[in-house]
Amino acid sequence: ASQSEEKDLVIIGGGVAGYVAAIKAGQEGLKVTCIEKRGALGGTCLNVGCIPSKSLLNNSHLYHQILHDTKGRGIEVGDVKLNLEGMMKAKETSVSGLTKGIEFLFKKNGVEYIKGTGSFINEHEIKVALNEGGETSVKGKNIIIATGSEATPFPGLEIDEKRVITSTGALSLEKVPEKLIVIGGGIIGLEMGSVWSRLGAKVTVVEFLNQIGGPGMDTEISKQAQKLLKKQGVEFKLGTKVVSGDASGETIKLEVDSAKGGKPETLDADVVLVAIGRRPYTSGLGLENAGLEVDERGRVVIDSEYRTKASHIRCIGDVTFGPMLAHKAEEEAVAAIEYIKKGYGHVNYGVIPSVMYTHPEVAWVGQNEQELKAQNIPYKVGTFPFSANSRAKTNLDTDGLVKMLADPETDRLLGCHIIGPNAGEMIAEATLALEYGASTEDIARTCHAHPTLAEAFKEAAMATYSKAIHF
Ligand code: FAD
Ligand code: NAD
Repeated sequence: ASQSEEKDLVIIGGGVAGYVAAIKAGQEGLKVTCIEKRGALGGTCLNVGCIPSKSLLNNSHLYHQILHDTKGRGIEVGDVKLNLEGMMKAKETSVSGLTKGIEFLFKKNGVEYIKGTGSFINEHEIKVALNEGGETSVKGKNIIIATGSEATPFPGLEIDEKRVITSTGALSLEKVPEKLIVIGGGIIGLEMGSVWSRLGAKVTVVEFLNQIGGPGMDTEISKQAQKLLKKQGVEFKLGTKVVSGDASGETIKLEVDSAKGGKPETLDADVVLVAIGRRPYTSGLGLENAGLEVDERGRVVIDSEYRTKASHIRCIGDVTFGPMLAHKAEEEAVAAIEYIKKGYGHVNYGVIPSVMYTHPEVAWVGQNEQELKAQNIPYKVGTFPFSANSRAKTNLDTDGLVKMLADPETDRLLGCHIIGPNAGEMIAEATLALEYGASTEDIARTCHAHPTLAEAFKEAAMATYSKAIHF
């Protein structure tokens, strides 16, 4: 069967990029259809990404804290036990509540939702293989590709999501592995490595670069993060490349090589988490039938208004350029609909925050010190440690600092890097400041409630041009 009516907009993919675009389009009065094959809306983020990982991070932290951090708080606990099945259930409850919530929002905003796999027949028409069997096709005046990304596989190690896992397997292991090796010390490796380390696994992270957290993380902050994660029991092998793996035996063997040469080594593990990055997902989409191009890294090529070679087909989210982050996908979704409806839209790519939800959290926005140095941009630094913040002290949670980078002439904020409790919430303040072009003096002259962690933010700003009061 085919739907003869031409829609104003057809969206392929119901992840953050696709579902936000669909809701926004509905609000703007467009006739919109969203095609999603997963059987649930919300994409990677809600189903196997941001949300389930944060559920496990939160509850594993609570468990770990109850085990190791009640002394000195006047709390005596008895027999603390992990119920992994229960922890997974809590995760599933959060996920299903949220994905169903999106379905409700679709109905509320008049979005048509087709459960199936979409592929281009031609520039205007999309064939949908329905999940329930059969086929249909839809036509769109405008089309948005929002098909997201998938884990990059490690050559020679076949993913079974039980012993050799991606983040998806790491979100639903049935028991705590004795030895877990994580290939890649990026955000996924550190978040999921933290979860399983807290639950009792011996975790080793093997990272090719000399720092963890990826290149966006400020080197000073990254070193602190590594030190604190090590204190929690996570082992690191930096400057080390996994060259091959063999999962045929009882334990999995990994050959690793020092990135600078040196002698190779064999590591063994019960479970190996492959976390070496994600790649755009366009498999089976039939891009060629619409004459569309991908670049050498598989990203759909677009212009600054998200238009592909065919100007009525736009592309947003993980499947195209830019950081693979849910909030970046969401911004692009709104902007893309504004382009379609009004002819203009806007995303400020210089002001997209990043958060790593370990404990403590690491969060940053704007430029880091190594980037400023590389571009010969002059800057000055202001820092403030949480050990001098009254709220952090009352919470007995004082690891970390706020670091601000500012223009030496104008005090304009260039970047903010935080490691510490609630860094992921606090970074919103830096993001707003950066978006508005605030100076660190503007921030420091803004009254912050006492006692709050955010006072550390204010004092770091003060430290860029004067002295912090409490340190
Ligand atoms: P996706 O969410 O991947 O959605 C694409 C959707 O399209 C999928 O549901 C897919 O089934 C569907 N699809 C693909 N092809 C077709 C087709 N042909 N027909 C129909 N449907 C199709 N980001 C953050 O900002 N914060 C976090 O805390 C965070 N945590 C993460 C944790 C993990 C473990 C992972 C893996 C990722 C995390 N991310 C996080 C990244 C975030 O999930 C992605 O940036 C975000 O999901 C991108 O949204 P998207 O809509 O572009 O793609
Ligand atoms: P990543 O690119 O952040 O990190 C991968 C790491 O693996 C890099 O540091 C790289 O040097 C290393 N690596 C690659 N090959 C290697 C090898 N052979 N041996 C050793 N190390 C190797 O990718 P990721 O951590 O897989 O995350 C994927 C995407 O998901 C990222 O874009 C990330 O932003 C997103 N994500 C975001 C969040 C969040 O915002 N909190 C959480 C999870 C995932």
